[in-house]
Amino acid sequence: MVHEREQDCIFCRIAAGEFDTKFVYESDTVVAFNDLAPQAETHVLVIPRQHIASVAAVSREHDTLLGELVAAATSVARDRKLEESGYRLLTNPGPDAGQTVLHLHLHLLGGNSLGPLG
Ligand code: 5GP
Ligand code: ZN
Repeated sequence: MVHEREQDCIFCRIAAGEFDTKFVYESDTVVAFNDLAPQAETHVLVIPRQHIASVAAVSREHDTLLGELVAAATSVARDRKLEESGYRLLTNPGPDAGQTVLHLHLHLLGGNSLGPLG
């Protein structure tokens, strides 16, 4: 499958395998890998291979892909045995939320108590 790719997008390049990043989950449409600067014992980023700038750019044409993205995240959570202890799944569209990489990604955080948001 050929995926839309944004020139110079770091996550497009990771998804394309340019840096030999170890994927903890991989399918035709989604990859997941450890965050470079983990904020919890488990901190995995789950991204579509296709370039989408953020969840704010998601439309109904992405329904299937979004389902696959969430299914990938819950699959990694299951692999890490986080279902009982719980985990946080979040995304940060836009500057006020602190988005630094303009390619849609879900943060999967867990393995220790995360405290309240904010
Ligand atoms: P945001 O702030 O956009 O929600 O999250 C971006 C996340 O990507 C940050 O947690 C940051 O540590 C992570 N990140 C940025 N560049 C890289 C990279 O090249 N490799 C990996 N594995 N994570 C990255
Ligand atoms: Zn991208």
